[in-house]
Amino acid sequence: FVIPDFQDFIKDIEEMYWTAKSITDGKVASYIPQLARANSDNWGVSVCTIDGQRFSIGDVTVPFTLQSCSKPLTYAMALETLGPDVVHQYVGTEPSGRNFNELVLDHNMKPHNPMINAGAILVCSLLKSLDKPEMTLAEKFDYVMSFFSRLAGNEVLGFNNAVFLSEREAADRNYALGFYMREHKCYPDKTNLRECMDFYFQCCSMEANCDIMSIMAATLANGGICPITDEKVLRPDSVRNVLSLMHSCGMYDYSGQFAFKVGLPAKSGVSGAMLIVVPNVMGICTWSPPLDPLGNSCRGLQFCEELIKRFNFHKYDNI
Ligand code: GLN
Repeated sequence: FVIPDFQDFIKDIEEMYWTAKSITDGKVASYIPQLARANSDNWGVSVCTIDGQRFSIGDVTVPFTLQSCSKPLTYAMALETLGPDVVHQYVGTEPSGRNFNELVLDHNMKPHNPMINAGAILVCSLLKSLDKPEMTLAEKFDYVMSFFSRLAGNEVLGFNNAVFLSEREAADRNYALGFYMREHKCYPDKTNLRECMDFYFQCCSMEANCDIMSIMAATLANGGICPITDEKVLRPDSVRNVLSLMHSCGMYDYSGQFAFKVGLPAKSGVSGAMLIVVPNVMGICTWSPPLDPLGNSCRGLQFCEELIKRFNFHKYDNI
């Protein structure tokens, strides 16, 4: 086993869970009522190793929407189906140093990277217009959902229609980004912007829970082979690209500090979820809705910092 004494390891995870549970900092996202109603007490942690050992504690089966945690997944899917050369004709690999929804493109007039809204909307247009363009929006939705599900060992994902509808209602900035990119001819030919935006909101509104997301993280930790089904879902080069950008851009404007302090690829979302990858060891998902001012889950961050205090998982620990 990659973690020989799993029982011992679990004791640490449990202690870290309870320490983080007492944190009362942060505010739940309030830009749409569906997220504002989230329960601040919810707190779950799930772990899945690359050899399939699993442990979960807390609210690990309560569904939440993926939100920005969908960004590395759609990016992975685009890399896998279109290849990195095509994808990176359209989207960069540089941290923006700006807010996740800032109205800004890089000096080539491309979105900075796929982990911010502009880049993720663009990745959605690639998935929609370049890979199997004959599919309708309905077919495309099923196609993406089943891809996400394969990353998660064939667990079934949900879809929160209320969140989808209100995302679309409260989307002035995202539409502004969408039009700004159209003005600068960022999209592939024949992109239907309305469909592309809907597709982006749908990806944000897919639902999973900590248990399921920890398997996705473990598939990334395992070079693209799902540890539960042994299915090869992603090529190693796709995984490398996804993890590289999670490492440099996954935690909003805290990405640099997170890379310094924790040294692990991770992606957070506005629902309070966080995907954390310990390459060649395990995937972790934490979920707790209260967010700090930069948009990262307060309990999730505290958990990661404690993880790195107790274990030598930081990328530069073992030198
Ligand atoms: N639905 C959110 C948006 O597009 C997702 C962003 C996030 O999780 N930070 O604004």
